[in-house]
Amino acid sequence: MAQPDKKLFSEYEKLKDEINYHNRLYYVLDRPEISDAEYDILFDRLLEIEKKHPDLVTPDSPSQRVGTEPSKKFEPVRRRVPMLSLQKVTTAEEFAEFDRRVREGLEKTENIEYVTEPKLDGLAVELVYENGWFTLGSTRGDGVTGENITLNLKTIKNIPLKLSDKTARTYPLLEVRGEVIMRKSAFEKLNRKLTENGTAPLANPRNGAAGSLRQLDPKITAARPLLFYAYGVSDTTLPGLGRQSDTFVFLEKEGFLINEHIKTITGLNKVEKEFQRLTELRPELDYEIDGMVVKVNDFAAQDLLGQISRAPRWAVAWKFKAELAESVIQTVEFSVGRTGVITPIAKLKPTRVSGVTVSNASLHNEDELNRLEIHLGDTVIIRRAGDVIPEVVEVKTDKRPEGSRKVKYPAKCPSCGEAIVRLEGEAAHRCLNPACPAQVEGRLIHFASKGGFDIEGLGDKLARQLIREKLVAEPADLFYLTKEQLLPLDLMAEKKAQNIIDAIDRSRRTSLPRILNALGIIGVGETAAQLLAEQFGSFEKFRRADLETLENIPGIGRVIAKNIIDFLAGEGNRRMIEKMKAGGVQFPDYTSSKTSGKLSGKIFVITGTLSQPRNYYKNLIEENGGKVTGSVSGSTDYLLCGTDPGSKLAKAKKLEVAVIDEDQFRKML
Ligand SMILES: [Zn+2]
Repeated sequence: MAQPDKKLFSEYEKLKDEINYHNRLYYVLDRPEISDAEYDILFDRLLEIEKKHPDLVTPDSPSQRVGTEPSKKFEPVRRRVPMLSLQKVTTAEEFAEFDRRVREGLEKTENIEYVTEPKLDGLAVELVYENGWFTLGSTRGDGVTGENITLNLKTIKNIPLKLSDKTARTYPLLEVRGEVIMRKSAFEKLNRKLTENGTAPLANPRNGAAGSLRQLDPKITAARPLLFYAYGVSDTTLPGLGRQSDTFVFLEKEGFLINEHIKTITGLNKVEKEFQRLTELRPELDYEIDGMVVKVNDFAAQDLLGQISRAPRWAVAWKFKAELAESVIQTVEFSVGRTGVITPIAKLKPTRVSGVTVSNASLHNEDELNRLEIHLGDTVIIRRAGDVIPEVVEVKTDKRPEGSRKVKYPAKCPSCGEAIVRLEGEAAHRCLNPACPAQVEGRLIHFASKGGFDIEGLGDKLARQLIREKLVAEPADLFYLTKEQLLPLDLMAEKKAQNIIDAIDRSRRTSLPRILNALGIIGVGETAAQLLAEQFGSFEKFRRADLETLENIPGIGRVIAKNIIDFLAGEGNRRMIEKMKAGGVQFPDYTSSKTSGKLSGKIFVITGTLSQPRNYYKNLIEENGGKVTGSVSGSTDYLLCGTDPGSKLAKAKKLEVAVIDEDQFRKML
């Protein structure tokens, strides 16, 4: 292994600081100074150094956040100081009673100083820092014993991996507590992507956060938009931290994200006003809150008050009233999506909840169905939260009609009758039969949709007719349809049939991203299709892609990369692509407005030491329509090679990729 010189070492240290600085600006302060592309350049350089000199890598390197190998299960963690649960109040009277008990306990008549904070609806965790290093992270669990999710927590970019030297010296052991959440906007974006990709959407932001954190594969967690809000330390006897409010100041200084609506308030009336303020503010916040936490600010006073059966006497959770309504379950339908995901949907007696009439509620998946034990005719409490589809939160078992039948998750696909399976790591069940009519229909609709071949007039109804009449068995069959075949269909006039045939004909000349989206590869929706088209530039290059190249494309990742490889290897899929070609579909190369330059569509890899910074060449290539990737593969066109090139040169030679130096590169321009 090459010995890192001093210069490289200081570059590495500087890079780490720089990336950590930008992470903080982006994830904690929400005011980035550089573009994503500039950030990627810094990050790529860091990875490059670390690959050459693995001995340099420290646990606080930003690279340690990308996720390591999956674990088999989460180990239990017994914590030093238990995480208590809070007593709940829902009315001003109940809060006044809490305040009275606090004053009584402290033998005080004057007003108490409280700290109020929004009660975030996420997953509570504890982070342990030893000598300043983040060494152990766990879920709340039962309060005393949680699960070790250190590797997953490390992927959350706003969790400091290392604290300041001063803190490391002052507090050799520091346990920080807080909540991991998913912002509403990030949740909606993620769900749109999941739906678009044919994956079952997440139930709500809280489930999103909890589900993402409990993934055995940290790479999945790393891809999820999670945030950590710190709200305290476990040890209230630390020197210099005498009050809850001191803790917030300290934690913020150490780089933790602290909620912006935390207040120090004296007296009952002001706390009530703050609760009103948060109630009104709630819909505007970009994260879910379900109430307000009120704590006695002074730690010595907290200590004096103590706790009863795992609930502190010095804090309370003042919960909001939820937007709930009562309805009746008329039936439960199981719908099969184009990727075979089976989702239970409750059909309700139409009911008004916070101004909207609701007649469907999602039951999400089998776990949720089992948890609720729904029977037909059950009276249920439904909740509407924001714009999310309403969900069933509770079953009124006392109102259950006599002799009613329990709703069971089907063992067979409701569409084709084949056995269904629950894939590892998924909450959803899938029908794996590629010929399943519901899936064929779903795939056909997706294929013809706006983001795909954009065939006007081909919607749900026609798709169903075409399949039922056996005119189409798979999407490629569309390109062999004739007007004469369409005419006998229900409600099909001469003109309409001609319009459809014309629309199909127009769709033969489409774009590469649309084709890639239309194929219906699990995980490849419009966004991923665009990325793939930009990366490969042509369908033939895409077809020859290997797993390594695919999983290294930012935004693609291992799971989707594997789906693509499986799809391309599938005999039926290969046949369908040939059938599309034979049916007149053109597979044009990808050209964006950006890629009209001299290097249009060309893929470069840069290696070795050059006379100019690597960034300079990267910009130059991109300005001229080319693309720069991190590793040499079958789809690389040129290796731009400086002195001391390393393993990339060997790989390029092996794959017969053209190797050019700086002069040759300039001539190309
Ligand atoms: Zn099926």
